[in-house]
Amino acid sequence: MIRNVLSIAGSDPSGGAGIQADLKAFSARGVYGMAVLTALTAQNTQGVSGVHLVPPPFVADQIDAVFADVRVDAVKIGMIANAAIAEAVAAALSTAKGRSVPVVLDPVMIAKGGAALLAPEAVDMLTLRLLPLATLLTPNLPEAAALLHQPVATNRTEMAAQAEQLRALGPASVLVKGGHLDSDESPDVLAAVDGLHWFEARRVPTKNTHGTGCTLSSALAAELAKGASAPEAVAIAKDYLAGAVAAAGHLTVGSGHGPVQH
Ligand code: PLP
Repeated sequence: MIRNVLSIAGSDPSGGAGIQADLKAFSARGVYGMAVLTALTAQNTQGVSGVHLVPPPFVADQIDAVFADVRVDAVKIGMIANAAIAEAVAAALSTAKGRSVPVVLDPVMIAKGGAALLAPEAVDMLTLRLLPLATLLTPNLPEAAALLHQPVATNRTEMAAQAEQLRALGPASVLVKGGHLDSDESPDVLAAVDGLHWFEARRVPTKNTHGTGCTLSSALAAELAKGASAPEAVAIAKDYLAGAVAAAGHLTVGSGHGPVQH
């Protein structure tokens, strides 16, 4: 049976991040993709030049329409933009059908070019309302630090401690991504019900990093929809992302941080 996976996220018209990346990753991972929009951005590979928010009740209307008709096997949440959208998404997913579905929460805050994709005052609403709904939370190091109001982790011990502390806030498992570490290595750590799992990787020298977080979290949602455990899903999704980054050189898209090839 082909699984149905829903992304709740923002749009990137240049196709590298947001729901466009999510839908490509869903297809590549063999699931049927759906998308509820939280925001439109005007952006390209060089950065974000504008953001236009969807009214929160209409975000909820979109989620309700999908759940009213379609069996949803997993949800990925990306750009949430502000506290009112966080609240609308949480309320819409807290229905009976929504509560039984695995949720991957990518706490998107700042685009690589520096644009804010989540209002700073909305961070605590995300923690309060959406973290408890997450099967798997996927922060990078600055996002983990912001959620915990702590300094950014600079080594593996601090990464592991923050993953455990975030897990205590409600998610069933937490993947802290070490790509921002000042090191040749780029380890990720998963805090799950059975303890810590480390995923080792060497840093790949590339400027094609636009949408890598979106792609990873979507691949994770696809694998959870197919029945993988969190550690299995992370291993498969990281492998997939590594292949997509390696194949990015086949694309000729823009002059900034280019997208990956799904
Ligand atoms: N734009 C949207 C709509 C996103 O959801 C995201 C990331 O989650 C980004 C941009 C970030 O892109 P980048 O990978 O370049 O930081």
